[in-house]
Amino acid sequence: MPLPSKLTRLIPCLMAAGLALTALAAPSAAEDQPAKELFGAKRLPAKMAASPYGSYAKGCIAGAVAIPTDGPAWQAMRLSRNRRWGHPQMIALLEEFSQDAQKLGWPGLLLGDISQPRGGPMLSGHASHQVGLDADIWFTPMPDHRLSAQEREKLPFTSMLDKSKFLTVDSRRWTATHARLVMKAASYPQVDRVFVNPAIKKKLCDTWQGDRALLGKVRPIYGHDEHFHIRIKCPEGAAGCKPQARVPAGDGCDASLAWWFTKEPWAKPKPKKDDKPVKPWYLTMANLPKACGTVLASASPASEQEVTYQGNGGVSSTALAFSGGGDTPASSIEAVIANDTALPAIVPIPIPRPFQ
Ligand SMILES: [Zn+2]
Repeated sequence: MPLPSKLTRLIPCLMAAGLALTALAAPSAAEDQPAKELFGAKRLPAKMAASPYGSYAKGCIAGAVAIPTDGPAWQAMRLSRNRRWGHPQMIALLEEFSQDAQKLGWPGLLLGDISQPRGGPMLSGHASHQVGLDADIWFTPMPDHRLSAQEREKLPFTSMLDKSKFLTVDSRRWTATHARLVMKAASYPQVDRVFVNPAIKKKLCDTWQGDRALLGKVRPIYGHDEHFHIRIKCPEGAAGCKPQARVPAGDGCDASLAWWFTKEPWAKPKPKKDDKPVKPWYLTMANLPKACGTVLASASPASEQEVTYQGNGGVSSTALAFSGGGDTPASSIEAVIANDTALPAIVPIPIPRPFQ
C-alpha cells in the first residue's frame, strides 16, 4: 500500500531531525573523555602566565615550571611520571625547604609528585595535586650519591609505620630529624597544610616540644606513611584559585585525631541490599573551570629547559632524563603506574571526615 503523500514527505524530515538529535546526543570525544587522559597526555606546560585554576582536587595550572631533576639539596624521583611541575612559588618553596632541611641535619630531599605539566586530574595516584600547589616529599633521606634515572624508578618506599601493630610509628625508622623536617615544612607562612599518616601526627602530638600552634597545620590522612605532602595556599592575586577552608584552630591533637584510632575510618562500608553497581566516575572538562580548556589548548614552550626553574640552586643544564627522553611511550608509563607502590592500599573513604 502506498504511503499517504503527507507522510512520505514527512519521512525525510524525521530522518533529518533524527540525525540532528544523534549529533547533539553524541558530544565530541573531548567533552566526555576523562580529563585525566587529556591532561595526562601533555608533556609540557601551557605557555601562559603562571596561575592555578580551580581547587586542589579539581583544577589545572597555567604556566607551570619544572623543578630541576637535581639540586644541591634535592633529587627528584620517578622521573617517568613527569610530575615535577608546579606553580613557581611551590618550586621556590621546595628549593628553600631543601636548604633548610640540610640545616636540620637532613641530607636532602627526595621529591615525589608535584603536578603534571598542566596540572589536572591524573591517570593514577592522586585526587589532588591538580593545581601545582601540592608536593610529596619522601621520608627517605637523599642518598649520598646522585641516583641514576633507573634507581629513581626503582628505589622502594620505606614506611615509617610498624606494620605488625595498629597505626604505630616504627621507632627504629622514625627519628627526631624526621619530626623536625615535617614541622619545618609546616612553619612556612605560605604552607596551608602538611598531610601525614595519623600515626605520625600522633607521634608529633606526643613528642613535639616546639611551637604547638604549627601542629594544627599537620593533618592526619590515609597513607602518607612513606612520604608527606606539602600544600601551599593560593598565591596572592590568583583569582581563579579556590582556597581550602582554614584549618581549625588548635594543635589537632584532639578528638579529630582520636577518631583515626577507632574502627570507623578503617571499616569497609556495608553494601546496601539494593545497591546498583556504581558507574565509574571521572572528571570531564565540563567539571573543571572553563579556564582549564584554555590551559589544555594553549601552546607549549619550545623545550622543557625553557620552563625549568632557575632558582639559586637549579642545575637544569645537567638535567637527568628518564631513558627515552621527553616522549616516554604510554606503554612504559603504564608499566610504571602498574608497579606503583606509592598508592596506598585500598581503604574506604570515610563519609563524615573528608580530606581536610
Ligand atoms: Zn601528595
